[in-house]
Amino acid sequence: MFKALVLTQEDRVTLANICQLPETDLPEGEVLVDVACSSLNYKDGLAVTGAGRIIRNFPMVPGIDFAGVVSESADPRYKAGDKVILTGWGVGENHWGGMAEKARVNADWLVPMPETCDADKAMMIGTAGLTAMLCVQALQNANIKPESGDILVTGASGGVGSVAVTLLSRLGYKVVASTGRAEENADLLRSLGASEVMERSELEQDARPLEKQRWAGIVDTVGNKVLATALAQMQYGGAAAICGLAGGFALPTTVMPFILRGVSLLGVDSVSCPFEKRQAAWEQVLELLPDSYYQQAGQTISLDQVPEFADKIVKGKVTGRVLVKL
Ligand code: NAP
Repeated sequence: MFKALVLTQEDRVTLANICQLPETDLPEGEVLVDVACSSLNYKDGLAVTGAGRIIRNFPMVPGIDFAGVVSESADPRYKAGDKVILTGWGVGENHWGGMAEKARVNADWLVPMPETCDADKAMMIGTAGLTAMLCVQALQNANIKPESGDILVTGASGGVGSVAVTLLSRLGYKVVASTGRAEENADLLRSLGASEVMERSELEQDARPLEKQRWAGIVDTVGNKVLATALAQMQYGGAAAICGLAGGFALPTTVMPFILRGVSLLGVDSVSCPFEKRQAAWEQVLELLPDSYYQQAGQTISLDQVPEFADKIVKGKVTGRVLVKL
């Protein structure tokens, strides 16, 4: 038997309960993993609260991330005792996920845990941290350099945002952190490396198609008006790495920044990101993210606190990253 957070649905209301389940209940897959920890991402919040239609088949074990140790493997790439990480691939959405003491998954979805990592570190990073790294790499690949100008990070207090602020500042970029919680989080954001903290409301105004040029690059986790305004403020030749929709999935913009300033929109996906790119991003985020990040912006919760924190994260009330200890 193993302990799991199980989501069920009654009259379209999602219910979350901790249950003891037999191993035979696990879905099919080549690799059985003893899960050490999971993490809480915005998508987990939507799934656990039912605020977003993330899960279509119930019962479901949530948790889009986990780190643990292989206990059985039918795939030659893994053997018992190997330490592994999983993020994405629809795990915790349409295949039982990481908020359980055991998970059975396809070998293709796993990444061997890098030497420099352990389960806690991996889950403090999790999908959010990996995505932040992919966004930074997207800007680098678009030739946005520290000397190109300021980089705006939106939703800066969140998981993706706070890691992005830290990584960019470690790489020598000048980072402007946009947040709806400046009063609460400005000191933290500055200590993570932001040069400036900006009120989100400044970007929520209706923008003209083109505004004064301000940003060489953007890491956007918010979407909607915030992103539209930031795009209107892009410098000539700038690039925006966009990964999130915490402020809504709309993008009420015009073609002007793209056709008159040569701005690029770089879509970033971590869920189905190919293995080699994923592995390279893990190596780089582990190298760049200082231990101080985990201490300043990480917190640890237990499985029974997940529903409470899921509610908080969809309301934009969680700062930094949340590790879920099994
Ligand atoms: P998170 O920790 O909740 O961070 C989101 C942040 O956005 C919040 O901390 C808040 O920051 C801001 N925010 C919240 N509600 C908002 C609203 N109504 N309007 C404007 N800003 C708001 O979530 P996360 O796990 O970092 O994920 C961030 C986003 O990226 C989510 O939409 C998630 O689905 C997406 N994501 C996508 C991928 C991918 O592969 N494409 C991977 C990971 C995450 P402030 O308080 O500082 O403003």
